[in-house]
Amino acid sequence: MSTGRVDLSLVIPRGVRDEEFHNAITESLSDWGWTTGGPVVDVVQIVADDETAELGALRDFLDRMGIPTRVYPSTHPAGKDVVARAISAGRPVEQPLVAAFDHDPISRPSIGKLGRVMFGDPDALGDGYVADLAVIGAGPAGLAAAVYGASEGLSTVVLESEAIGGQAGTSSMIRNYLGFPRGISGMRLAQRARFQASRFGARFFAARPVEGLVPGLPGEPHTIRLEGFEVRARSVVIASGVSYRRLGVPAIEDLVGLGVNYGAAMSAARSCAGTDVFVVGGGNSAGQAAMHLSRFARSVSILIRRESLHETMSDYLIREIEANPRIVVRPRTEVVDGGGGTRLEWLKLKGPDGELTKVHAGGLFLLLGAKPCVDWIPDVVGLDERGFVLTGRDVPPEHWDGDVPPAALATTVPGVFAAGDVRSGSMKRVASASGEGAAAVPLVHAYLDACAAEPVPSA
Ligand SMILES: Cc1cc2nc3c(=O)[nH]c(=O)nc-3n(C[C@H](O)[C@H](O)[C@H](O)COP(=O)(O)OP(=O)(O)OC[C@H]3O[C@@H](n4cnc5c(N)ncnc54)[C@H](O)[C@@H]3O)c2cc1C
Repeated sequence: MSTGRVDLSLVIPRGVRDEEFHNAITESLSDWGWTTGGPVVDVVQIVADDETAELGALRDFLDRMGIPTRVYPSTHPAGKDVVARAISAGRPVEQPLVAAFDHDPISRPSIGKLGRVMFGDPDALGDGYVADLAVIGAGPAGLAAAVYGASEGLSTVVLESEAIGGQAGTSSMIRNYLGFPRGISGMRLAQRARFQASRFGARFFAARPVEGLVPGLPGEPHTIRLEGFEVRARSVVIASGVSYRRLGVPAIEDLVGLGVNYGAAMSAARSCAGTDVFVVGGGNSAGQAAMHLSRFARSVSILIRRESLHETMSDYLIREIEANPRIVVRPRTEVVDGGGGTRLEWLKLKGPDGELTKVHAGGLFLLLGAKPCVDWIPDVVGLDERGFVLTGRDVPPEHWDGDVPPAALATTVPGVFAAGDVRSGSMKRVASASGEGAAAVPLVHAYLDACAAEPVPSA
């Protein structure tokens, strides 16, 4: 224990019926089960004989949504059953063939289509529907805004382009979130928050990117544009976070989903069992991914451009990595090429002296930092020079009310707020993102109250 090489420590039970102790054991076993084994039961069955990028994307989406999923070959009885269901429903039979809940099986669904089938479509809200609050993005910031908004009586709609959970949902284990002394997987944290918000009445629509925002006239609802549909809302919380930077090596980009993954890709980790895998990046997310992968892979190499991890990674993770015999750090090394037959098999690495080495690779995980997801945001919402949304005192003075800046999370557009990683000056942590999502809700209330008190005649 004195060297910190402890997987789990619990205090001695206080009595025979110590619920605290029993809970801790149960949670630890449950976390272990979620991160190491595949599901034993399934509610989604996928029929696929080959590993393809399409299959990888579907599994990743379903895993991040917390849906127990299994992949069957077409020769397996469960696979044959799904094929028979598709044929009797008059559906085409192409792989991957997905049977979700009791819906008819769908051939080669896009993530958007699968999301619509499984989690509903905003069209269902109806043409005249106006929400009190629309939250764009369902990472920790959006989830917190949804929990607090819905629990405080606001009709709340959450629009998410991918799976619920954001970056946090891709983290194998978040160890520094308040109240979870043994850590919690990002997916489980996100899905708990989704259930919590849903129980208060928030409505979630996954796998539907928001494509535009048209601010309303003063006091009027804003319009949020999705492909083929619009949602109207009196207030908006922008919580669209950040997305991963790309490696920019074409041969590697072609293999995304086939052994190459942006982010920790929890589901892909299991398929790396017994192989040599590579993680690119020196931040905490790369460190966590390496720790998680070391449970499965024979070896994990962390490739970084700098001399060491000390400037970019938390000390606790560096210590864990140093103590892990399966992980090596390769400084001043980058990936310049890669390839394989049907999936990634090799990488070409450029070392500190410019020397090129070809290595066998069972997986490549790219955690290269991030840029804000603001492509859909109109120009009237002010951004800083790096594209993050300006709020509060950072908003240019021409948008102030005399000497008074907008409220802390308010943007240049009245009734539009920003929370979490997408916000200029944010801390880039789960706790700060969820704190900001929660803190946006009183500002929404104040804005809606002001609109109700001083109705502006429509133009
Ligand atoms: C692998 C990894 C591990 C991490 N580990 C930790 C940790 O241990 N502790 C910690 O404190 N922090 C950790 N972080 C950082 C933390 O996850 C982020 O700070 C946090 O998730 C930010 O939350 P957010 O809601 O602001 O944004 P995000 O989590 O980025 O969520 C934004 C959401 O908006 C969605 N979106 C984007 N554009 C659109 C659009 N046009 N329409 C609809 N939806 C859209 C995205 O799909 C995404 O789901 C980690 C990050 C990563 C990647």
